[in-house]
This record gives sequence, structure tokens and C-alpha cells, in this order.
Amino acid sequence: MQEIKNRLPAGVSLLAVSKSQNEESIRDLAGFGQVDFGESRLQEAIKKKKNLYDLSRLKWHFVGKLQKNKVRGVIKEFDFIHSVDSISLLDRISKIAEEERKMPKIFLQVKFRDDPSKGGFLVEDLLESWSRINATNNIHLIGLMTIPPISLDFNQRKDLFRDCRNLANHLKLKDCSMGMSKDWGEAVEAGSTWIRVGSLLFGKRQILNK
Ligand SMILES: *Cc1c(COP(=O)(O)O)cnc(C)c1O
Repeated sequence: MQEIKNRLPAGVSLLAVSKSQNEESIRDLAGFGQVDFGESRLQEAIKKKKNLYDLSRLKWHFVGKLQKNKVRGVIKEFDFIHSVDSISLLDRISKIAEEERKMPKIFLQVKFRDDPSKGGFLVEDLLESWSRINATNNIHLIGLMTIPPISLDFNQRKDLFRDCRNLANHLKLKDCSMGMSKDWGEAVEAGSTWIRVGSLLFGKRQILNK
């Protein structure tokens, strides 16, 4: 972990994506000072947080596909949501955040290239609805998140990450959540502020997907 952190410029944070990893692995990294952990399933996160209740300073980031019926649970359990991919989902988050008296930090997931396997806002839709999105109450809209299609090569990924950085700048959003185990270097060069790293930090996933 320290090798990655040493290579991150000031202002770039490491999110340790601990999905499918056990509590002991999280505890180990927390012992080295890691604070931010990412999970993609609500039930798995609730169970881990129970077993890690003594580590109250940890911050939890939801990075998975967010189903509408999980919004309340995710708002209660997580400080950041990286995967908000539609206006209807954002509206629901706003409404439930008000009921729960929370202010989740939100990244909007954006799809810069055609990719049937991924969700996300299309750039033109985001721009068209921006004033309405930007006026959403009970949330802190902090940035954009993106995942490149796996078919892209190094330079194409870097171009995509730059597109994300430029759009965030245009919308006056500080953060870009981009870069994973295999592409965090080019994401950082293009202006990422949060890299989301799982397998490179933890090794193979330990819990089988259910
Ligand atoms: C699993 C996951 C990661 C981490 O991926 P690695 O390739 O293991 O680093 C990052 N972001 C999201 C949204 C994920 O689901």
C-alpha cells in the first residue's frame, strides 16, 4: 500500500476497495493508516462494519451498482457514493438523505464511451440536466466517476480519463474517481483525485461472489 501512496501526488487519495475481502485484511490496512474503504454490496458492508465497530474513524464508500431499494441502507452506512448513474436515483437519494438527516458525498458516474456493460450518465444528458442536478438538496455533489471499457488501450484510457477531468473542471467539480488496479497510473496523470484499488492492494478476492 505504501508503494502506491508514495507515488500519489498531493491531493490524490487512495480508496481501498475491500469488496470480497475479509475483516482481518481491512484491519491490517487500517493498522497502516488506511481510512477509506470501498464496498459494492450493502449486506456485506453491514456485516463487516459490525465486526469492525471499534475502528470508528474508517470512512466507507459505496462503489457498486445502487438499486433503488438499497438507497436508505446505503445512505445510513456510507459516507460517499461513487456510482450515482441517473437523475431518478439522485432524486431518491436526496429525498431519503433528508429523512435520515444525512449529507452523503456524491460522485456521478459518467459513461464517456459506448459500453453496454456499464451504467452512467451520457455526457450530453448530464450537461442538459446540469442546472437541475446541481440544485439537488441534501447531498454534497463532489465529483464524477468513470470506468473505461476493458477494450481500450493505454492511450485511449488516458484520453477518456482526461475527458472526465475536463468535464469535472467545466462543471466546477473538484473530484474525479477514476483508476483501478490496472490503470491507476494513467488515471492519476490525467487528473484523478480518488483511485479505487482492490486486487493490487489485497491480492485475490477471498469471499466468493454470491
Ligand atoms: C472492484 C472495483 C474496483 C477495484 O478493482 P480492482 O481492479 O480490483 O482494483 C474499483 N471500482 C469499482 C467500481 C469496483 O467495482
